[in-house]
Amino acid sequence: MKTLKTQVAIIGAGPSGLLLGQLLHNAGIQTLILERQSADYVQGRIRAGVLEQGMVDLLREAGVSRRMDAEGLVHDGFELALDGELTHIDLKTLTGGQSVMIYGQTEVTRDLMAARAAAGAVTLYEASNVQAHDLKTERPWVTFEHQGETFRLECDYVAGCDGFHGVARQSIPAESLSVFERVYPFGWLGILADTPPIHAELVYAKHARGFALCSMRSKTRSRYYLQVPVDESLEAWPDERFWDELKTRLPGPLAQRLVTGPSIEKSIAPLRSFVVEPMQYGRLFLLGDAAHIVPPTGAKGLNLAASDVSTLYRILLKVYREGRVDLLEKYSAICLRRVWKAERFSWWMTSMLHQFPEADGFSQRIAQSELEYFIHSQAGRQTIAENYVGLPYEAIE
Ligand SMILES: Cc1cc2nc3c(=O)[nH]c(=O)nc-3n(C[C@H](O)[C@H](O)[C@H](O)COP(=O)(O)OP(=O)(O)OC[C@H]3O[C@@H](n4cnc5c(N)ncnc54)[C@H](O)[C@@H]3O)c2cc1C
Repeated sequence: MKTLKTQVAIIGAGPSGLLLGQLLHNAGIQTLILERQSADYVQGRIRAGVLEQGMVDLLREAGVSRRMDAEGLVHDGFELALDGELTHIDLKTLTGGQSVMIYGQTEVTRDLMAARAAAGAVTLYEASNVQAHDLKTERPWVTFEHQGETFRLECDYVAGCDGFHGVARQSIPAESLSVFERVYPFGWLGILADTPPIHAELVYAKHARGFALCSMRSKTRSRYYLQVPVDESLEAWPDERFWDELKTRLPGPLAQRLVTGPSIEKSIAPLRSFVVEPMQYGRLFLLGDAAHIVPPTGAKGLNLAASDVSTLYRILLKVYREGRVDLLEKYSAICLRRVWKAERFSWWMTSMLHQFPEADGFSQRIAQSELEYFIHSQAGRQTIAENYVGLPYEAIE
């Protein structure tokens, strides 16, 4: 077995792992990233696209914002379509000047991968059988296989950035973790198409037939979603059926503007809320989807990954520069305070905008009136807006 050494071993080259790696590398802290998939596979995944101001700022701090700043679309608001009527949520006015950036996770990943390669920092793609050991000691280590050889990676800390199905969370004894979970009785059928977006801003539509979202990745690439039953099959949704159903769920004048075209990606994602506590075990820290999942309705998944990265990065900076090892044990509590607020908002947006098959008439009326209350009250719109643009990151003392 060959032995390697680094300061922070990062498992997973998704946005969490790559962004943490870039920030630490820039600060002179050594990292090595182990990724199960190939670089092409990682780069090809189509996922999130709405970046909060906090994530935008963090990407700038990491020095990977040149393309985002040139090509990303700044959105100062979004539309809520409730039973055919549009309500504009003016993020900028309601939050005192904040907005969100539309820039695809695929592009964020590409920029981070390019920056890491340019910096000469190592990512080992197609690393298999990754396992973390001795996490409760001062010398944790990680074993893995790469190109037919077995390696032992010795490190100071392990960052578990390997997503919901990764190995990091599983390295923690079950009795040391509490799991909080809600699985929703529907999924999102998503389509990506090289067509101009239907509207300049995102449109979240509540309709008796189910939720719909009109999103985008650029001025020429649209991303649309439909609420579908959780056990729906993709084969049941040829493009024409998707476009027809989307038009039905949108207000008439908006639907007339829809430009359709062949899908370049189509998938169904289940919706889930999930949190594990704590987000650390000895010298292992969980970040992003490895620790929590939100339904995408609040556009929070990728953004929560970024706030975890910010927290761990700032703690590790103080650990390496000032010897502040006392901060390490605060990581989980700091992250979870923000995570739960985003979980609440994502659950709320999901509950308000979707049709729940089991909901009785009373529950439906309550949801309807709660939503009407929020959108017709300045305070309600402000609450939606401040959560949507992202709550502030907690300062590390
Ligand atoms: C289909 C889909 C659609 C989504 N859409 C949205 C959206 O519209 N809006 C939104 O806000 N969020 C969305 N999300 C959520 C968002 O994409 C995630 O929150 C974000 O990717 C989290 O980043 P991460 O780096 O923590 O995890 P991931 O992106 O999952 O990255 C984890 C990485 O670890 C690697 N890995 C896993 N296991 C191992 C192992 N054993 N060893 C080594 N490497 C491993 C994986 O290959 C992957 O590269 C979506 C997620 C999915 C799955």
